[in-house]
Amino acid sequence: MLPIGRLSGSGSRAEYDTHDQVPVEQLDRPAEARQPPRPPAGRSPSACRTARRPRWLHNHIVVSALLDDKKATLAFVASDTSLCSELEIATRFTAATAAPLLVSAANACRGVGALRATGHPSPLIGDIRQWRHVVATAEVPTEIQAGLPLYDLDGWGASFLQSSNADIVFTPSYFVSCGDWPALDAVLAATSAIGTPGLVTVIPVDAAMLGSHFLPDFLGTLHRSPRRRFAFIFAAKKTPLQNPDRLSGLRVLLSEFPGSWVIGVDALVATDALAHGAGFTAVGTSSGHRWPQPPGDCGGPPARNFLPGLFLRDLLEFRSPDFYADWYADSPSPWCTLCGRCLDVFEPDDIDKRRIIEHNLHAIHSFAEDLLRVPANDRPAWLRDARLAALDAHGALTSRATPVRADPTLRYLCEMDDPQMRSTRPSGAWISAM
Ligand SMILES: [Zn+2]
Repeated sequence: MLPIGRLSGSGSRAEYDTHDQVPVEQLDRPAEARQPPRPPAGRSPSACRTARRPRWLHNHIVVSALLDDKKATLAFVASDTSLCSELEIATRFTAATAAPLLVSAANACRGVGALRATGHPSPLIGDIRQWRHVVATAEVPTEIQAGLPLYDLDGWGASFLQSSNADIVFTPSYFVSCGDWPALDAVLAATSAIGTPGLVTVIPVDAAMLGSHFLPDFLGTLHRSPRRRFAFIFAAKKTPLQNPDRLSGLRVLLSEFPGSWVIGVDALVATDALAHGAGFTAVGTSSGHRWPQPPGDCGGPPARNFLPGLFLRDLLEFRSPDFYADWYADSPSPWCTLCGRCLDVFEPDDIDKRRIIEHNLHAIHSFAEDLLRVPANDRPAWLRDARLAALDAHGALTSRATPVRADPTLRYLCEMDDPQMRSTRPSGAWISAM
């Protein structure tokens, strides 16, 4: 077994000493709570594990696969802060399917380490989520400049990876406000020279940067930075990418930076990104991870009947099951074979909330898997047809209990791909071209 504090190996995984390793508490805790650095005490969870393959070699193989531009991947992002046990459910699901799991929380280092200590087999990614609380400035673009003077970004990342046995960790970037080009420049500059395998530059920005007004400067700033892989997080007060201008902007971004990662999105945005060049997308297991908010904004009103949104593949909708109960009042209930139940009747209790999340994970994963089985060049057309069928399916619902409203993101994506450039009504019906 390798001694604590040193990784050794060949290939791109460099040797390094970690006599100045950042303690786990410092990797997890916000700046104001940090203590002066001290040597790590005791053994990390990973040190107690035995593996058939040396850990560094396993890590190298997994990281190489995740960073392979030719292989698109769908992951899930979760944290342990929810009352609906999303992290526990996502852990079980990703362990069974080998899908990567992104732990996005202030205690991500401990969280990932705990999962790895239990032998979690699928790729694990850590994000300490400082972007959710702190706005970047030109002077302080990441957590490193905020108070870890003894460590550079590579040292911080290497320590995180070793302490947690994560496969990937995101840079502790702060949030870039809309149009704050000096702050974006600073985040890019601070992360431009990293060399630790598995340390990926995350760019958390206001989703309005994808709009046509800001997009040229956004792309120009990215292009001026040394070329490397970016993981983007697009945040806004409400549904960051439910906007045709931003959805178009995301496709442009992916065409100029193919292989980019798109983190914290819903199933519609994730699949569109995968079909248009993203190398990796992470779907949120809860609304806070599906529709990230910037610093200072807090969650929206509770869902209808306090039930989480449920992903319905037939309609490509993400609604509270109560909506489906009304919409399908005159039709056979939607049914999930894997869950063995109808999808429009749930109780607002913890058991059914968990069942909804479990359903969402397998239904979204299945949708993405179907897409990724299609040759890459054919994915946009396959997805366009799937979305058109879902939009049409709204028209077959005849109940008047609650007006049928198609997901605006679904409508916008269908409109973007419509050769006649037609628009749709809120119901999902097409408005004939003039
Ligand atoms: Zn199901």
